[in-house]
Amino acid sequence: MSKSEKKTISANKGRPLQIVVIGANFAGLTTANHLSRNFSVTVIDSRQQFEFLPNIHELLSGVKKPDSLWIDRKRLIGRAGHRFIKDTVTSIDPVKKKVYTSGRKRMPYDICVVAVGGVNNTSGIAGTAKFSLPFKSVEDCQNIFRKLKSLTQSKHRLPIVIVGGGLEGVEALGEILRRYRRHPGLEIHLIENRNRLLANRPRSLDRDIRKICEPYNVHFHTKTRVTKIAANRVWLSSRIALDSDATIWTGGAVPPPLIHKSGLTEQPGDWAPVNKGLQSNYFDSIFIAGDAAEWPGLERKQAYDAMDMGECVAQNIELLSAGEELQDFHPASKPTVVSFGDLQTYVIMGNIAVAGPLLAGAKEGIFQATMTKLDPPKGLTSAIDLYNRTSDSLFNLAIPTLTSFSSLRRLAGFRFLI
Ligand SMILES: Cc1cc2nc3c(=O)[nH]c(=O)nc-3n(C[C@H](O)[C@H](O)[C@H](O)COP(=O)(O)OP(=O)(O)OC[C@H]3O[C@@H](n4cnc5c(N)ncnc54)[C@H](O)[C@@H]3O)c2cc1C
Repeated sequence: MSKSEKKTISANKGRPLQIVVIGANFAGLTTANHLSRNFSVTVIDSRQQFEFLPNIHELLSGVKKPDSLWIDRKRLIGRAGHRFIKDTVTSIDPVKKKVYTSGRKRMPYDICVVAVGGVNNTSGIAGTAKFSLPFKSVEDCQNIFRKLKSLTQSKHRLPIVIVGGGLEGVEALGEILRRYRRHPGLEIHLIENRNRLLANRPRSLDRDIRKICEPYNVHFHTKTRVTKIAANRVWLSSRIALDSDATIWTGGAVPPPLIHKSGLTEQPGDWAPVNKGLQSNYFDSIFIAGDAAEWPGLERKQAYDAMDMGECVAQNIELLSAGEELQDFHPASKPTVVSFGDLQTYVIMGNIAVAGPLLAGAKEGIFQATMTKLDPPKGLTSAIDLYNRTSDSLFNLAIPTLTSFSSLRRLAGFRFLI
């Protein structure tokens, strides 16, 4: 830390340190929840609701409703003793230590936490923004749900294109098959740039998913790129043009322009580099947590890392304000759970995957446990939210599975995929 920055932080000993947290999802919300009331903490997010992104694919089939995936940020942050402002940060001035918002607020800080996640990667492909359906928020997935519901009213041919064969694309495909696989006109094309689905996961998953899809009208186009999208058509680099009534874009995330604009990266398009204690490489009064951070050696971007980072940042702010050494962040090794509608669920640990529909309970269990951790049922509102979430799970996921004979037969089998 520079001498001048140390001086500014210690010079504030007479009044509470002003902490501004930008972004209130997994990383920002966890930071705020772990910061003591001795600080003056303001949390800013463009949206009113916390969103549980890892389960938004389930909106496509209707097994989850938006209300099950949202929690009101004002209530959560207020309960931690802090202030929530719904606004969008347009820039950070790390030298003057001020945050500027589109609502014309200018907020001074002693320490700023940047937890802004990523933005939709449209790869600059013509027509993507105008004609494809993004898959990046609860609202986006609810739009897709409505569109599919209205298209499936007719029994005619229904071509759907999913762009991206990563985790999001595969989970989206599973949910569409969960609800619409008996529709006579359904025809799904999944496009993946790399040579297989879930390219950075065990190879066996690609084979397994293709096999599950054999009875259905699903076509996989790997090693090919989308070059252009129009209202009802998608063009591929392999010179194929596909009809499409709904083009779902799951092209992943890129760093938000804000982090480069604020001097937190050298190049536009980079994630913000941090030291092992999650402090910006360029400004000691700025911590970066969650997907926005490029922590040395950690390539994956996962919600559980974002939450652990949020906890570590809160702890380091306490240490910094007490003039003590910061602690390193230690990424935990946790399995990834990938669901494929009601047809299959995979738990992946390194190079090994275990498959079995019963594992769907693991994904649902992680969802319920994380939501309860973020919003413990203390008041009436959170108790009602908990009841709604668990009854959704029971009526939309557990009961349909347990009452179908073929599902029960499939449930018995676990398989190791290597
Ligand atoms: C479809 C999908 C499936 C996923 N599945 C899994 C999974 O199974 N398991 C898993 O662990 N992870 C999964 N992830 C990844 C996980 O959701 C992310 O790692 C996690 O959301 C990162 O948390 P974050 O707080 O860093 O960022 P985000 O959750 O992206 O939150 C960033 C917040 O910052 C706010 N914000 C951004 N810019 C501004 C600004 N300028 N001003 C004010 N507010 C701003 C946004 O509104 C948002 O609320 C999935 C993600 C997606 C999209």
